[in-house]
Amino acid sequence: MTVPSVHDDVSARLAHLGQSYTANRRAIVDVLIGAGPLTLPELLDRRHELAQSSAYRNLALLADAGVVRKIIHDSDHARYELDEDLTGHHHHHLVCSNCGTVVDVELPGDVERLLDRSLAAIATAAGFALGRHDLDVHGTCATCRA
Ligand SMILES: [Zn+2]
Ligand SMILES: [Zn+2]
Repeated sequence: MTVPSVHDDVSARLAHLGQSYTANRRAIVDVLIGAGPLTLPELLDRRHELAQSSAYRNLALLADAGVVRKIIHDSDHARYELDEDLTGHHHHHLVCSNCGTVVDVELPGDVERLLDRSLAAIATAAGFALGRHDLDVHGTCATCRA
């Protein structure tokens, strides 16, 4: 992914909703480009000029626009990342059920292909056309296990 093309894509997706790509929205996307899945406090830590209430509203809007994906829906542990359609980086998550830590992981290519074949068979049987898959693993992280 190139940074300018991500910003162009974000701008187009917002325009589709009749929204403009404001400086604050761009600042949020800039932080997320270089980061793994972040909580709102972590995001605010990296950009002190962002106010919490507007950052929260902008994240919700960016999620509606398909720019940002909310990984954990539990409000205490909500984490956000750029949608992988924008980054081109297909990956999965290890999610700690205790502290909410999220680690990005990649599966070997042959496992991904097998997954897609299996999911396509399940989808076809149910009359679905296969899109992409989201598959997160829940467990307990090393810190919480210690
Ligand atoms: Zn943990
Ligand atoms: Zn996958």
